Amino acid sequence: MTYPKIIINKNKLKENVEILVDICKRQGISPGGVTKVFSGNSELVNILIEGGIEFLADSRIENLELFKDIPLPKLMLRLPMLSEVEKIVEYADMSLNSELLTIKKLSEVALEKEKVHKIILMIDLGDLREGIFEEVEVYELIKDIIELKGIKLVGLGTNLTCHGGVIPTNDNLKRLSEIKENIEEKFKLNIEILSGGNSSSLHLLEKDDMPAQINQLRLGESLILGRETAYGNQIKGTHSDVFQLITELIEIREKPSIPIGEIGLDAFGRKPTFKDKGKRKRGICAIGKQDIDIEDLITVDKNINIIGQSSDHLILDLTDSKDEYKLGDKIKFDLNYGGILKLMTSKYVCKEIE
Ligand SMILES: *Cc1c(COP(=O)(O)O)cnc(C)c1O
Repeated sequence: MTYPKIIINKNKLKENVEILVDICKRQGISPGGVTKVFSGNSELVNILIEGGIEFLADSRIENLELFKDIPLPKLMLRLPMLSEVEKIVEYADMSLNSELLTIKKLSEVALEKEKVHKIILMIDLGDLREGIFEEVEVYELIKDIIELKGIKLVGLGTNLTCHGGVIPTNDNLKRLSEIKENIEEKFKLNIEILSGGNSSSLHLLEKDDMPAQINQLRLGESLILGRETAYGNQIKGTHSDVFQLITELIEIREKPSIPIGEIGLDAFGRKPTFKDKGKRKRGICAIGKQDIDIEDLITVDKNINIIGQSSDHLILDLTDSKDEYKLGDKIKFDLNYGGILKLMTSKYVCKEIE
């Protein structure tokens, strides 16, 4: 087996999923599994299914295409590009939307394929990423949407804590229910789904403060790392080390802590600064910025310090470790969500499910 390697613990993943599915279902919420970090791996998707996830969601249509034989509803998370509408209708049962032009095109393609494509209309409750911001525009848009024969409006949704860091509250999510009620009354429509956000909405379930009409969540990070993402709290009984990175040492040498010579720019055009700690035992691991950012790495051996990285090298300070590391030894890291996403996407990183 080659290194660097990301090891994925199946049992721990399944336990995380089961705990979160239980939390959601007890409060009438349908849990969706966001598969962004799986990079299209069906074996991992099957663990979500075994754990009770009710639908799959991904932001890349290429991934949903790889899941085409998996018998679970599929939701396209990122607003469709006009240029990918064909694929959206082919591989997603449902998509999140906010633009009339895109929705019209989805309808046309759906009619050609003799399908009805379901949409969830996104409402921006203040986080300022996707969604309709002005409430009046929602009603104007729906007037047009209900005329489209290839489209079924099945729900309203929102996404928070992604750009603006806005935390979901009973107050801001209740606006979603109010808009739903207005639509149902104005247009004599039944809106089945109220999609109340992502892993940052979980804290409301814990406090029993979720507006009653919210009946769906789209969960990514909480399944993978076991934490709610509004405050970053670990959810009881879950694991934060489902995904771990193993790298190999290719050099171990005693060197000073300050470079010798005039300091110019580093490999990424920044002027580096250094603190003199005397001579240190330094190790280089064979992995770099091409695969991971050091901000996304968490050392398992807490006595190792990360000094820096370049495209293909990760430099560590091993001096304070109780272990006597040798050339060829493996160094293990825990990861945050962004790091898992990058590593799973890198073709230079071996993936092993255990
Ligand atoms: C990524 C994403 C999610 C999942 O977010 P987590 O914080 O990982 O749970 C949900 N909805 C949308 C629209 C997303 O883009």
